[in-house]
Amino acid sequence: MKVLVLGAGVVGLACAVELHRAGHDVHVFDPRPGAGATHAAAGMLSPAGEVWHGEEDVLCLGLESARLWPEYADRLTRDSGVEVDHRRAGTVLAGYDRDDVAVIQRSVELLGTLPDVAGVTVEPLGRRELRRLEPTLSSRVCGGAFLPGDHSVNPRQVARAMLAVLGDRVIVEAAEPEVVDGRCRGAVTETGGRHGADVVVVATGTRLPESVGTDLRRAVRPVRGEIVRARTNDPPEHTVRGRAAGEEVYVVPRAGGEVVIGATVEEHAGDPLPTVGGVWRLLHAARLLLPGLDPAAILDITARDRPGTPDNRPLLGPTETSGLLLAAGHYRGGVLLAPATARILRAHIDGTANDSGDAFSPRRLLKERTAGT
Ligand SMILES: Cc1cc2nc3c(=O)[nH]c(=O)nc-3n(C[C@H](O)[C@H](O)[C@H](O)COP(=O)(O)OP(=O)(O)OC[C@H]3O[C@@H](n4cnc5c(N)ncnc54)[C@H](O)[C@@H]3O)c2cc1C
Repeated sequence: MKVLVLGAGVVGLACAVELHRAGHDVHVFDPRPGAGATHAAAGMLSPAGEVWHGEEDVLCLGLESARLWPEYADRLTRDSGVEVDHRRAGTVLAGYDRDDVAVIQRSVELLGTLPDVAGVTVEPLGRRELRRLEPTLSSRVCGGAFLPGDHSVNPRQVARAMLAVLGDRVIVEAAEPEVVDGRCRGAVTETGGRHGADVVVVATGTRLPESVGTDLRRAVRPVRGEIVRARTNDPPEHTVRGRAAGEEVYVVPRAGGEVVIGATVEEHAGDPLPTVGGVWRLLHAARLLLPGLDPAAILDITARDRPGTPDNRPLLGPTETSGLLLAAGHYRGGVLLAPATARILRAHIDGTANDSGDAFSPRRLLKERTAGT
């Protein structure tokens, strides 16, 4: 089929790569490929690291996608020649004081109560065991846990690799779906170019086009996140995810002594710009947990909007408009969820989708609204 993907963030690119590999004729449109939330993402592949009650569907999708990542990363590197820095060292959860440890213990207990966490190992650890595992942690850290199954990648490199795989199938222009008589016929670019297609996949992050309908467009909202990228001689071996002085922070190691310190979570209107307060809180908490970061050189500070949804589940699959599909609303997990998302979208386009993806159907938000009124 002739498929157009609007948006070249990690989600749109993953869909495009999957469809291209499956033999479809794919083109991707984006005025700034890879420059959205993907550019800020830390790249943690940690399905169990952020679990809340009532979000078991996302946890299951995350676990499925996490299982796909090792082979996915290898193949991306093979096909593109771009190293994506896939690491399997696991995540250390670290609490600075007793209150911080208590919050970590609650999420570890929650994991134990969920029925679908088969395969997720969580090891509660005391102060000494934690420091033995991750010697860069402060001696003041009180306790925490270890998630040995977690991975990470460098999302900027992932986007580069995907763009290399797609080559001249990526067109550097914004585009909108063209809907005629209730059917999507293709897309129109910002310079007026018309491109016909059998299917259009909208993966434009926080900004959905009007043609997806008011309910869905309003359902995706921007949630700002700030990160600091730094280089240090003393990086942690594992991803360190912790709480210090009541603040949540993570430090994700990358190649060459680079670390990503993140991330704030803030509902806001307007452009996503880094703030003095946000960056200070991140650096303060990171330095309490990992004092060796003190002399680290700051490489850049980035703020981007995550595409949030009312139920924190992504929107995957057909809309009310024939030929128009969504791959959006991945909130805090778009990198993790990219391989599984791409498979779900391909199944919808190939006509092999089953009911298991219904929890993520964009139509649920239309139905809920109708039921609510
Ligand atoms: C600080 C921060 C840290 C994060 N850390 C992690 C993490 O550790 N792990 C994880 O899994 N996730 C993480 N995330 C979440 C993840 O980044 C997002 O879920 C993911 O990037 C969403 O991907 P996307 O492709 O939908 O959106 P984006 O990456 O925002 O891409 C959307 C693209 O659409 C383009 N676009 C917009 N309008 C148009 C148009 N009209 N035509 C064509 N193109 C258009 C934009 O230019 C952009 O390139 C983090 C996010 C932030 C902000």
